[in-house]
Amino acid sequence: MNLVSPKPIFLDAHSTTKTDPRVLDAMIPWFIEKFGNPSSNLNSYGWESAAAIELSKRKIATLADAPIQDAVVFTSCATESNHLAILGLLKLLKSKNKTKILTTKIEHSSVLGAVSLAAEQGFEIVYVKTESTGRIDLNDLKNQCDEKAGLVSIAWANHEVGTIQPVAEIAEICRNNDIIFHSDAVQAFGKIPLDAKSDFISVSAHKIYGPKGCGALVFFNSALREKIAPLQKGGQQEYALRPGTENVPAIVGFGVACEIAKTEMIQNANHMRTLRDFMWQSLSARFGSRIQRNGSIQFDLPHNLNISASGVDGAAWLSQLKNVAISNASSCLSGVQDYSQVLMELGLTKEMARASIRIGLSHDTAMTDVSLAVKEIGDALDRLIQFENMLGSNL
Ligand code: PLP
Repeated sequence: MNLVSPKPIFLDAHSTTKTDPRVLDAMIPWFIEKFGNPSSNLNSYGWESAAAIELSKRKIATLADAPIQDAVVFTSCATESNHLAILGLLKLLKSKNKTKILTTKIEHSSVLGAVSLAAEQGFEIVYVKTESTGRIDLNDLKNQCDEKAGLVSIAWANHEVGTIQPVAEIAEICRNNDIIFHSDAVQAFGKIPLDAKSDFISVSAHKIYGPKGCGALVFFNSALREKIAPLQKGGQQEYALRPGTENVPAIVGFGVACEIAKTEMIQNANHMRTLRDFMWQSLSARFGSRIQRNGSIQFDLPHNLNISASGVDGAAWLSQLKNVAISNASSCLSGVQDYSQVLMELGLTKEMARASIRIGLSHDTAMTDVSLAVKEIGDALDRLIQFENMLGSNL
């Protein structure tokens, strides 16, 4: 008798992705055969590890379309990258009397956390307005760019609704106002081509079929790297910006994940967009105006679908979805609140923000997976609607 129930269909790819077996294969030798410390520069074990790190940097820079040399600084995750990006600039900004940081309220908690630490150090944090689609209000950004503004940190694409920001326009506004532009590109990198340039971006391996525990800052503006102050002191690793022995196996894996993304990204994006559109069309044909799609239809990540239903108990809806693994907000906030702050910022009511699901497709999600998911999500919603109707008619 098999007591192990089948695993639910994984539709939570914003939170993480399954490591690609090709990535894992490439990582394995770096645990046992090639375990040298990349900073050991007097023996061949160290040399081969240092060379592997260099090669991975090139692969990551190539995918980002950044300079091949000296563009990448490895960290342990994108949360760390965001902190290094923002907090590492505070000294420089202070020295220029630029004490204002511009961001949005729909950033990932790691950016919101980092700017809150900057606020504790006396920086003024200004939250640029966002439209109901999740795109930032460029006029508001322009208006906020005074002589005190030193840094803009705005994500390339949103981690809940998948809205892609007007990065080229933001970059131009920043350039014209002598403001540094950091972008958290975790959800966009490896999923869509980065066809614009901020000064630097944060990226994370585990969002693109690489291993957990490896992130990076990628600099399009290489002079900027030298101006960032490290958050910890010790060794000279990663240009002394991130002291500590590098995670060589994960770094090798990240490089291979980027190499794969470079060749397969467009094909994967088309595949996931087809499945995503099928899901939305099926659900909207069944529920009409009872459900709404959140975010931008025009500027959206191809693997993302965020839906809210009206007049149902969101917690009850989610609790019925036993065979699909989804989220209703950023996994980094799970346990903190049961509704999406991002959706509230986009103008949804708390009830709609609570009755929402975030679907994230992976490159290996199949049509059979999404067909089953659509049925499960739809049947659960149907039951709740009938329940609400019954309650209504008994009043
Ligand atoms: N930034 C964004 C937009 C994210 O979606 C995430 C993870 O969900 C992070 C940063 C944090 O990434 P990591 O798990 O590598 O710290």
